[in-house]
Amino acid sequence: MDLRLHLYNTLTRQKELFKPIKEGEAGIYTCGPTVYHYAHIGNLRTYISEDTFVRALKFFGYKLKRVMNITDVGHLTSDADSGEDKMEVGARREGKSAWDVAKFYTEAFFKDYKSLNCLMPDVLCPATDYIKEMIDMVLVLEKKGYTYSIAGDGVYFDTAKLPDYGKLAGKSHIEGIREGARIEANAGKRGPTDFAVWKFSSAEEHRQMEWDSPWGKGFPGWHMECSAMAVKHLGETIDIHWGGEDHVAIHHTNEIAQSEAATGKTFSNYWMHARFLVMGNLGKMSKSSGDFLTTSSLPERGYDPLVYRYYCLLTHYRKQLEFTWEGVEAAARGLDGLRALAAKVRAEARGAVPAADRSAKYFQDFMSALADDVNMPAALAVLWETLRDNSLPAPQRLAFALAAEEVTALDLFKAEEEAALPPELAALIAEREAARKAKDFKRSDELRKALSDKGILIEDTPKGTKWKLSRG
Ligand code: AMP
Ligand code: ZN
Repeated sequence: MDLRLHLYNTLTRQKELFKPIKEGEAGIYTCGPTVYHYAHIGNLRTYISEDTFVRALKFFGYKLKRVMNITDVGHLTSDADSGEDKMEVGARREGKSAWDVAKFYTEAFFKDYKSLNCLMPDVLCPATDYIKEMIDMVLVLEKKGYTYSIAGDGVYFDTAKLPDYGKLAGKSHIEGIREGARIEANAGKRGPTDFAVWKFSSAEEHRQMEWDSPWGKGFPGWHMECSAMAVKHLGETIDIHWGGEDHVAIHHTNEIAQSEAATGKTFSNYWMHARFLVMGNLGKMSKSSGDFLTTSSLPERGYDPLVYRYYCLLTHYRKQLEFTWEGVEAAARGLDGLRALAAKVRAEARGAVPAADRSAKYFQDFMSALADDVNMPAALAVLWETLRDNSLPAPQRLAFALAAEEVTALDLFKAEEEAALPPELAALIAEREAARKAKDFKRSDELRKALSDKGILIEDTPKGTKWKLSRG
């Protein structure tokens, strides 16, 4: 059984053993949301996939630095550098300033993100805070001869100057684009795959978001933000870059081109992409048309948002997932069942929570599923089987479930926690609370220790004493 982490690298088109730049550490860059509208459940599938991967890395003991950008400028309505800036479109639609639109939808995004138990990145960077870094990178590209200007339009990256341009998407794909079939024509471009690194503000139209630059007033090309911010926070070569599959051919291809042209180094060693959530008979989800399902569609129909997390985890992140409400209903029943099983095991464990036995077969099976390109359907199957296996002592099963929960993040124990606490432990907690109120700190500390030995952690808050199970 190979318990070393392997992941599918889009760049090499195969599963590879993960070898970090620095032993035991990993630097991850994720393309964040474009904040001109709510995130739809498709966007959130990608973030759930990435979050589960991050949690798996932590499970394997890696120390992480995660950076996520927030696209609050420069993403045009067409990926081919034409059309309007999506932020300006959002501002017009809502009668607000582009800055207010960005603030509103950034907050809305993280509310949804957290409701799905996704962990916050270590560094969050709005593109508008990094205009200087982007201009500096364009200047380097210009100095190295990789750019040309189109009057009244912008500064463009000349992709013909980079022999391995398009290596992420593959040669045939790029040749397809070069034949002109896939991209809107832009009369001034030298080649159809060339892309804007800086756009000029038009003289006729007032833009809310624009900056002075060596090329006059303008704004950055969309891809530029990710290159500038990744290099700034993670260095010239990063371990892993994440995103949805739509980014392979244009956005990530162009991030690689401009980063590698500027630094002369490999931009990211591993590229991971989540496949799309598709709506099947419910129609295409499009953020730009505003016709889509958000996470609030779930509580509106009576579902816990974590039902959606569970629904996503039941399909491997590299398989397309077709969304249906029947599927959500089945996932809701599944999650209820898993939570009921977890509560039963915890009741049987009667307060005992030993450290999880990492050498046990079920633990190894779980790790092996994670090690195999984060195979969550397989990992969840191990969790189900282990919780059901009455031949294993309940405290051991409980300890495993608590450890697995660090990756699955399905709140397996939350709802039942209070109710399922054995009465003798509830009595100890009450006794400690009384001792604390009576300022008998010696007794209160003794009781805290007694509870801790039984796997209950006590926390005193201004609203009273809270407790939780310690993670074994
Ligand atoms: P955006 O906010 O449009 O910049 O997209 C945010 C993330 O969602 C990106 O990583 C996209 O690749 C991803 N994404 C967009 N549509 C879908 C979809 N239908 N399914 C899964 N991921 C998606
Ligand atoms: Zn990006």
